[in-house]
Amino acid sequence: MFCPVCGEQTKILQTRLLADGSKKRRRECLDCEVRFTSVEKLSSIPKPKAVRGVKRESEEVISSPPDLSKLWR
Ligand SMILES: [Zn+2]
Repeated sequence: MFCPVCGEQTKILQTRLLADGSKKRRRECLDCEVRFTSVEKLSSIPKPKAVRGVKRESEEVISSPPDLSKLWR
């Protein structure tokens, strides 16, 4: 992130994780040494691949159920 005052690079002094998953960062400019706070928020949370694989397997079971009518004849 760049300095809002002079546009130079900034360094992170402190990072705090908030309750909603966003990160609050204390930053300091490397050039003019102004200090400010930034908040990073996730706009979308990516799903883990393992969970997606399990869901796909269960969908296949529902789309092709076993033919139970044959068992009762
Ligand atoms: Zn600056």
